[in-house]
Amino acid sequence: MSISIQDVCFSYPNANRATIDHFSLTIEKGEVISILGRSGSGKSTMLRLLAGLEAPTKGSFTIQEQVVFDGTTFLQPEKRGIGMVFQDYALFPHMTVRENILFGLSQLKNEEKKKRLREVLELVELQEFEKRYPHQLSGGQQQRVAIARAIAPNPHLILLDEPFSNLDAELQVKIRKELRDILKKAKITSILVTHDENDAYAIADRIVKLKDGCIEVVGRPCDLLVDG
Ligand code: ADP
Ligand code: ADP
Repeated sequence: MSISIQDVCFSYPNANRATIDHFSLTIEKGEVISILGRSGSGKSTMLRLLAGLEAPTKGSFTIQEQVVFDGTTFLQPEKRGIGMVFQDYALFPHMTVRENILFGLSQLKNEEKKKRLREVLELVELQEFEKRYPHQLSGGQQQRVAIARAIAPNPHLILLDEPFSNLDAELQVKIRKELRDILKKAKITSILVTHDENDAYAIADRIVKLKDGCIEVVGRPCDLLVDG
């Protein structure tokens, strides 16, 4: 087992109910999970808890047996080995594709850096574009750079927050498939949150339906479709 999230609860100060209510899930290494729920269901909050931007009220989270948080431990965000992809890509506009990807690799030796850069550029099929700046790329290409940058340091887990919401409908269909292929090829454990069923069904190995901070159901896309 790769990742274990047990009984996580969280409330914002002054909120009259729990924003995350007893969330438990175990995730296999390399699995792609989608958390699906309406706006306000708690998806972003769950990612913020996993990333370390908020501290849970209760519960535990371990990655490969290492405790990230529990009643006594709280690992700082930068020590968690978690990569993030946000909806607005958040690429550095004044840096080329190459520089954007190298940014997270500063702890590696030069040789290793170059090797890893090649690997991830090949994975996202952007070898030809390494000298371009973000504004010289299409939306889909920027998206792939953001993914390459998140994957480059070999994180244990990547978190993707509505990664398609800035793309037009046609591109969205294409990028969904590309993203699933990239994540599976990289064998990287991923949690993607979305309000869009089509995203979740196209990408995930398993879908977690979230409503008012509670898990309604967890299942493989084929099983959930059968059950309605
Ligand atoms: P989602 O990502 O599914 O849209 P969020 O995690 O952003 O949901 O929000 C879940 C709930 O928590 C909502 O009711 C929202 O209004 C509330 N919320 C989000 N951020 C804050 C905050 N900083 N302070 C208080 N309440 C918040
Ligand atoms: P994708 O399907 O990967 O998003 P598009 O069909 O949107 O690609 O773009 C097609 C081509 O146009 C790409 O090779 C891309 O590099 C190029 N392109 C798109 N926007 C720009 C831009 N602002 N400046 C330079 N080239 C661009």
